[in-house]
Amino acid sequence: MFRQAVSKAQCIEDDSVVAGTVAGQFVVSSTVTSGRTYIVDVQRGFCECYVGASGACCKHQLAAADKAGVVLPNIPIVSTPQQKAALCFLALGPNGLGASFFGTMKAGQHRNVKLINS
Ligand SMILES: [Zn+2]
Repeated sequence: MFRQAVSKAQCIEDDSVVAGTVAGQFVVSSTVTSGRTYIVDVQRGFCECYVGASGACCKHQLAAADKAGVVLPNIPIVSTPQQKAALCFLALGPNGLGASFFGTMKAGQHRNVKLINS
């Protein structure tokens, strides 16, 4: 779903994202309905559309965040081995991979690895 939102956000023209009257807010034009706009708050990770109003990240938020040059609060950055191990634990439970596994991880590596305790 996130990849789909990223792909859709790329279809939003730069001039369709305008800074709002409140700091951190933008007005983003709908790509579907002419004249329809959504208020996006990039500081709180919110959009008026049905996807964004549920707390999920939507294409409007991604377009506004790109224009503002900020990271959305509802898209956590996972960069350290400990953060990656924590997410792995959430997904796989205690049989996941430890932080040492993720320390040297690069894209395309570690295929078909054996999980801890499996
Ligand atoms: Zn939205």
